[in-house]
Amino acid sequence: MKKVVVIGAGHAGIEAAYAISKMGCEAILVTIHLETIGQMSCNPSVGGIAKGHLVKEIDALGGIMPRAADITGIQFKILNRSKGPAVRATRTQNDKIAYRNFMKSFLEQTPNLRVYQSVV
Ligand SMILES: Cc1cc2nc3c(=O)[nH]c(=O)nc-3n(C[C@H](O)[C@H](O)[C@H](O)COP(=O)(O)OP(=O)(O)OC[C@H]3O[C@@H](n4cnc5c(N)ncnc54)[C@H](O)[C@@H]3O)c2cc1C
Repeated sequence: MKKVVVIGAGHAGIEAAYAISKMGCEAILVTIHLETIGQMSCNPSVGGIAKGHLVKEIDALGGIMPRAADITGIQFKILNRSKGPAVRATRTQNDKIAYRNFMKSFLEQTPNLRVYQSVV
């Protein structure tokens, strides 16, 4: 089985490691601190005008971020409802701690994926 090492368990690293594990390879995800896997920024939101389309694409590709956003969401909104369809966007506000905990336990239960705490 091919082994792939992913450095960093932020949004990008989580999706990369999960995709690798689903492809039948062994993913080794290394991150500085296990407790900050999937740590959201100061404004814990997923989506919005600039990033909503990206979240939908990740969803279509079978990624984990949209699922985590649904499960840990505390507010779900369609932005710019009063304006035209081109500027509308979906956005969730999430429970920062629940999101992080969900991601950590999801990764720990994913077959072909191991998480390590270390600085590369
Ligand atoms: C102040 C601020 C506010 C933001 N607000 C929003 C928002 O409201 N909504 C939104 O959608 N986006 C927001 N963003 C953007 C969003 O946070 C980033 O785009 C996103 O987190 C980037 O994900 P990433 O996986 O590329 O990197 P990160 O989330 O930064 O993940 C990188 C990971 O790599 C690990 N790492 C780094 N170096 C090493 C090493 N040497 N060895 C091992 N591990 C390592 C880190 O510990 C971390 O876990 C904001 C960003 C900032 C800075």
